[in-house]
Amino acid sequence: MILPVNLWSKYGIDQSKELPEYDFCYCETCRNLYRQQTGKDPLDLEHPDQSPSWRRFRYERINNVVNTLAGVAHQHKKPISAAVFPTPEIAKRIVRQDWTNWNLDAVMPMIYHGFYRENVDWIGNAVDEGVKGLHGKFPLFAGLFLPDFNGNYADLNLAVNLAVKNGAAGVSIFGDVTQEVLKALKL
Ligand SMILES: [Zn+2]
Repeated sequence: MILPVNLWSKYGIDQSKELPEYDFCYCETCRNLYRQQTGKDPLDLEHPDQSPSWRRFRYERINNVVNTLAGVAHQHKKPISAAVFPTPEIAKRIVRQDWTNWNLDAVMPMIYHGFYRENVDWIGNAVDEGVKGLHGKFPLFAGLFLPDFNGNYADLNLAVNLAVKNGAAGVSIFGDVTQEVLKALKL
């Protein structure tokens, strides 16, 4: 996986390119399955991270886990949701989450603008990308990270408005919900 850019210094790593030690999964099971499908061992590829079929294989492995869990939840008539990475593109690129193809009942993308060194406006763009990618399959609740707002409740209110304006069904709040936060959540 690739960490959001603002976390690189915290962990003392530079992930401006994909690093083998953080790039999963090259276990026997995955390599064998991929070999069955394509006749190739991913370890023999010079740049496996640039191979479309290997990337697709990786997305599908994760889709398979999530959709198996979703099937079990639905068998028991329970809804299932996930807090995923912020946009379909970022999620696929940095953690191989192909979440628009998951059989969820709702999604709460962690649209943590500070993690990506973005402005509050970006929250609206991220919601727009997610909603368009989902084509109405299930609702999206924009995940807002309270510490990234540094106590700026006007910005928090703006974020909620941007999320709803861009098609979010609501927001999900990550952090300490105080009275001021509750007030800022009112549209
Ligand atoms: Zn594996």
